[in-house]
Amino acid sequence: MAEALMVTYKRLPVEFVRGDGPWLWDSNDKRFLDAVSGIAVCSLGHTHAAVQRAICEQASRLIHTSNLYGIPNQQKLGERLTALSGMDRAFFCNSGAEANEAAIKLARLHGHRKGIDVPAIIVMEGSFHGRTLATLSATGSRKVQAGFEPLVQGFVRAPFGDLDSLTAIAATRHDVCALLVEPVQGEGGVQIPPADYLNRVRELCDRHGWLMMLDEIQTGMGRTGRFFAHQYNGILPDVMTLAKALGNGVPIGACLARGEAAGLFTPGSHGTTFGGNPLACAAALAVVDTMESEDIPAQAAAQGKRLLEGFKTALGAVTGVADIRGLGMLIGIELDRACGELVGMALEQGLLINVTADRVIRLLPPLNLDDGTADQLVAAVSSLVRDFLKA
Ligand SMILES: *Cc1c(COP(=O)(O)O)cnc(C)c1O
Repeated sequence: MAEALMVTYKRLPVEFVRGDGPWLWDSNDKRFLDAVSGIAVCSLGHTHAAVQRAICEQASRLIHTSNLYGIPNQQKLGERLTALSGMDRAFFCNSGAEANEAAIKLARLHGHRKGIDVPAIIVMEGSFHGRTLATLSATGSRKVQAGFEPLVQGFVRAPFGDLDSLTAIAATRHDVCALLVEPVQGEGGVQIPPADYLNRVRELCDRHGWLMMLDEIQTGMGRTGRFFAHQYNGILPDVMTLAKALGNGVPIGACLARGEAAGLFTPGSHGTTFGGNPLACAAALAVVDTMESEDIPAQAAAQGKRLLEGFKTALGAVTGVADIRGLGMLIGIELDRACGELVGMALEQGLLINVTADRVIRLLPPLNLDDGTADQLVAAVSSLVRDFLKA
């Protein structure tokens, strides 16, 4: 196929030409139920009317001016997101990796301000933070790092969800300035830490003057049943990164910060040409408006619970199904064997699913999925899994 493209993806043999809500159509007009949502991006579904309208209106007036000038949409979006999250300030960029780059730079500024010459950031095993050099170095996966050495220095690795290991690091290392963690590991296989993990991490960060930095790129914007996953814990991070669903498909990322961390950047210390441009911010404003006015996080919480119960009923007793877990509409079905081939089998049946960490079926349907379509999804995935395990 596409000889003109670098081979960064093993693409599936399908090309979509149109979408509507949780549905996609290919060039043969075959319909697919989309439980991937462009990897947790199109959380309001495809071609959402309010987002579409906002993009068209903004595109007809002004698309880009650069951050050399004021951008009213960016200002408004910053106000909306800080109000929703309790953070103080936002920096807008174009992707998740860039949002995490900003967070890593904030951590290093914070470390130097504390008098640490070579500051280190605690990151987790099994984490995913992006594909740039700094973010792949922070990522806890050898597959992502292999071949790109030398890695960026200044990361200390700990097991995810394990507080004792963090306490041990705190006792022995005095160069730590921050900790970066996902509330739920998405790429890592829908790994959910103990319920009070983030609370304990918050206490540890406070005790040691570390910035608590949450990568909510996948878990944020309603995916887990709250606007931001850490809101289940009733805590605030010092830094939080967002991207994926923020623009419902229009590329935009954000690094939000609170307190001292919100004042670390000064003119010239960080920047972006495209970040937070009028068009991307118009899309994100429409996303935020819709999510707030329709209480999409609550819908995700309720529908996620229904889906999880549905899967437990359908698959809970099936030999070969190791675990069924989820938070909101971030759902993982772990099998006792590698199951990457399920993705192609599902595709043939008009169903889009994802498999991550080799053995975990990851489902990321749109958050406004109706009951009937949700039931269809449970039935389709469950029968697929049963057939796969029988074969
Ligand atoms: C997708 C993802 C990223 C990277 O985002 P990009 O937009 O692909 O750069 C970082 N962290 C998490 C948790 C993600 O899910």
